[in-house]
Amino acid sequence: MINGKESVTELFGCMTFNRKAMAKHLSKAVYQKLLDVTVHGEKLDDEIADEVAHGMKEWALTLGATHFCHWFQPQRGVTAEKHDAFLAFDEQGQAIERFSGRQLIQSEPDASSFPSGGMRSTFEARGYTAWDPTSPAFIIKTGDTSTLVVPSVYLSWTGEVLDMKTPLLRALRAVSERAYRVLKLFGNRTAKHVQVSLGPEQEYFLVAKEFYNRRPDLIYCGRTLFGAASAKQQQMEDHYFGSINPKVLSFMSDLDAALFERGIPAKTRHNEVAPNQFELAPIFEEANLAVDHNLQVMEIMRRVADEHGFALLLHEKPFAGINGSGKHVNLSLMDSDGRNLFEPGAAPKKNIQFLVFLAAALAGVEKFGALLRASVADAGNDHRLGANEAPPAIMSVYLGAYLDRLLNEIEKGSFAKPESAEAMSRDLMKSLPSIVLDNSDRNRTSPIAFTGNKFEFRAVGSSQSIAEPVTAFCLVLAFGLDRLIERLEKFEGKVADITPKAFGVVRDFVVETKRVRFEGNGYSAEWHREAARRGLPNARNTPEALGVFTQKDVVGLYERYKILTKAELEAKHEIKLEAYLKLKEIELRQLREFALTFVAPALARHITLFGGAAERLEGVSKDGSKVLKARLAESGGLMEGLYKSAALAEEVLVRSADCGGFEARAKLLASDGVAALEAMREACDRTEEVVDQSLWPLPRYREMLFLL
Ligand code: ADP
Ligand code: MG
Repeated sequence: MINGKESVTELFGCMTFNRKAMAKHLSKAVYQKLLDVTVHGEKLDDEIADEVAHGMKEWALTLGATHFCHWFQPQRGVTAEKHDAFLAFDEQGQAIERFSGRQLIQSEPDASSFPSGGMRSTFEARGYTAWDPTSPAFIIKTGDTSTLVVPSVYLSWTGEVLDMKTPLLRALRAVSERAYRVLKLFGNRTAKHVQVSLGPEQEYFLVAKEFYNRRPDLIYCGRTLFGAASAKQQQMEDHYFGSINPKVLSFMSDLDAALFERGIPAKTRHNEVAPNQFELAPIFEEANLAVDHNLQVMEIMRRVADEHGFALLLHEKPFAGINGSGKHVNLSLMDSDGRNLFEPGAAPKKNIQFLVFLAAALAGVEKFGALLRASVADAGNDHRLGANEAPPAIMSVYLGAYLDRLLNEIEKGSFAKPESAEAMSRDLMKSLPSIVLDNSDRNRTSPIAFTGNKFEFRAVGSSQSIAEPVTAFCLVLAFGLDRLIERLEKFEGKVADITPKAFGVVRDFVVETKRVRFEGNGYSAEWHREAARRGLPNARNTPEALGVFTQKDVVGLYERYKILTKAELEAKHEIKLEAYLKLKEIELRQLREFALTFVAPALARHITLFGGAAERLEGVSKDGSKVLKARLAESGGLMEGLYKSAALAEEVLVRSADCGGFEARAKLLASDGVAALEAMREACDRTEEVVDQSLWPLPRYREMLFLL
């Protein structure tokens, strides 16, 4: 028995308004219409809304729901919800449960305090949420409380986009339509549509709650702002794929069960590289659903961890000196016949089609690599991108030796003839195992790796909503596809006639996009020099990276595909800068408080203790006393370091308050602010290494990282 059900299959999706629930609670006609909307993306007929809402409510009541809410994704990476009771009164004044079509379709959260980047002035602060019928409604159950949750988009009354889901849905459509056009160009008659498939691997840390509760930096900043390294960290490499701690396994089992209830296809669970670091990967799904599911995964993980006495850390770098966490976002295109368009197939016809898709991806990344970088930029991910366990901030594509060689051949023109297309196809098949092999190791250093039949975007941060990076990736692909389509559409005739010409087009793109392909070690200093020589952008921190959202080319891209307007992009830029600078200011204040009110007092007590001991030793052991006095002098230096660096932080905060716009402030914090944080951290870490352990007021790395 799992969660009261006989089997996983019975459990799976039981908390979602899935087909089974729809069939039970809707009339046949309405059920069919709703399927057309959810599966085929047809427009929702207002007339059926009342019946759908009623059926949904009846279903939710069977699961104990008393309230419903629209669940949406404001532009700050987490979800928002506002609950309403089903409670209403009938004409006789009797209390009844009611959920109307109108309530299902639309809701008005009091939205004045969601970030909007100045898009809404306070007097017109109202936005509304609208049901996204393509993502099934579900029940959130916490303790005895159950709520019916309706996935929604979030817009302002004047139509501006205020969320992350709307642009995502638009970008998914843009790339799907273009991919479908390519299929048709190559004579596909059976596919009805193309969808983006997505499988995000989620990394995370667990920490015992008793430690977490005593580390304000974990509570307020999501990461340790300081902490001396533990003697043992990850150097033994004994955690990765190691046997799972029984307490953690029990958490993972409950987590999986909770995910299955929501219809979230959790597939793998294992230990990651760092101590107390783990990973969960789902089976891939349609992208919009996968994004909603990943947001739920993060939420459910936090709740289940809490029930097991753990705190969940999703921050990209919770502990210095050991691996951080990311989210490898696996992405591909699938047609309605179930074919993966990034699969290097068997027949030559499909191979050229595969190469067209590959070339499109390269063309997109070549032109808009900086946008991909910006799409994953935030304060947390700054610790990770470019650090030695994460992909660099330079966006390059890793294809693996086989495909790389293949493209080099194409560049030389060897595949320009149709006969060699046959040969290439045979070759591709033979060498497929080597594509997989190739990707097993070296490509960990690449932010965008082609892994056999999909792209893996690895620069995404573990705490981020993947809506933004997936939107950017899809746009980049759509752009690349459009460029190829433009050329391919000029050819007329049968597929057999088009194929050789298409090879010529692919060849042009292979030549043109060469600079974004990189097979070597992305961590190396040579690559950084080489990338600079190739003119590849390399934004080192968030404020630097975010600038591209308002650059002409990027604005043009978002406008061309009707994703966001210039004003909406400017708002996005502001929102992200503001989030960055606020977090950095919180970190500065928090660490300053630590330095002055935890660390310095502990050091003072330590000095008193050792000072007394040095005096006692004076007449007994000159040498012993000398040793202690030398230590005392060192402690004096540490004290000076603590106060100096805290003053530095104070000074940066004052300057930040004075320096005007968000961009200037964010830049100041990224340079001088980060320097002050580092200086304070060094003083605190060194103090932790010398102070009497019994005087140390905070949990240490060796406790937080190893004890659960
Ligand atoms: P890895 O070697 O990275 O563990 P896996 O094959 O196990 O590779 O896949 C990792 C993730 O990629 C999983 O979440 C999986 O569902 C996803 N994935 C696999 N195939 C596709 C695809 N065609 N489209 C999108 N995601 C995919
Ligand atoms: Mg992977």
